[in-house]
Amino acid sequence: MNVGIKIPPAPLDAALAYASIGIKVFRVRRDKAPYGNCNSCDKRHPSYIKHRPEDCQCGVPTCHGFWAATTNADLIRRWWTEEPDANIGAPCKLNGWAVLDIDPRNGGYTSLCELERRVGVLPGTTMQITGGDGLHMLYRSPGFDLPGEPFPGIDFKHNGYILLAPSVHSSGSRYRWAGNGRYHPAITAWPEALLPRKEKRPIPAPRPARNPFPSPPRGGRPGGGKMWTVADLVQHVMDAGAGHRNNDYFFAACRAHELAAQNLIDLGEVEQALLAAASAIGLTDSEARNSFDSAATRPADKRWAA
Ligand SMILES: [Zn+2]
Ligand SMILES: [Zn+2]
Repeated sequence: MNVGIKIPPAPLDAALAYASIGIKVFRVRRDKAPYGNCNSCDKRHPSYIKHRPEDCQCGVPTCHGFWAATTNADLIRRWWTEEPDANIGAPCKLNGWAVLDIDPRNGGYTSLCELERRVGVLPGTTMQITGGDGLHMLYRSPGFDLPGEPFPGIDFKHNGYILLAPSVHSSGSRYRWAGNGRYHPAITAWPEALLPRKEKRPIPAPRPARNPFPSPPRGGRPGGGKMWTVADLVQHVMDAGAGHRNNDYFFAACRAHELAAQNLIDLGEVEQALLAAASAIGLTDSEARNSFDSAATRPADKRWAA
């Protein structure tokens, strides 16, 4: 029985095969040098118009890297006719994926073993062997952002993109789908064991308050700073890069105390949410608690802004 979808060896045909089953793809140069944006999307150009990639209105179908990903067969034909050897990129979040990316050069397989010892064997799903002998485990996106590089050599790819078979790695080897070499569209949900604690144990509803927490008006803070919500602060911690975990967590904790002092958020609620986020990015409970408490004694900083 033929299980899975056969992916043709030529990049154009493969890109069309992915698009035909609804996977958004874009072209990536072999050396990963980005394709240029049009002038109004190019930050360095005098006619640049400030906008987010997801709101782009320029009409040029190739701007903003993976935001250009498409299932449009005409555009795909044009791209790979111009550059037949281009690799095939697929944005993770835009395709509904969150990908466990295991990089053997940084000890990813050792981390995976360690991780599975702690949380049990991860659920089986569609997997790709990368051209660098790494592994992509494709899961369905949990619907919120995940911490990047939670373990050495393991990346949770959600905001970024991955290359798809038969793309060529810088080592010269091709990406290929694990098993019978076909793409298996039945992708498993993101493992429960890898959800941040906050998402596993929902935060109890806030106590009825004398003054129920109003959603703080965005952008309305005196001095022009951004008005942070509990969700923003959690996201700030989750987005912390490997070298910034303590600083970013402390920053969030300081903002939490300031907002709580103004009765804009509930201190107990934000503390619980930030401790859960801290645990999800690998801070120990005692580190997180100490840092949260010491943030309380720090004088408010009026200059911060998003
Ligand atoms: Zn543009
Ligand atoms: Zn644009």
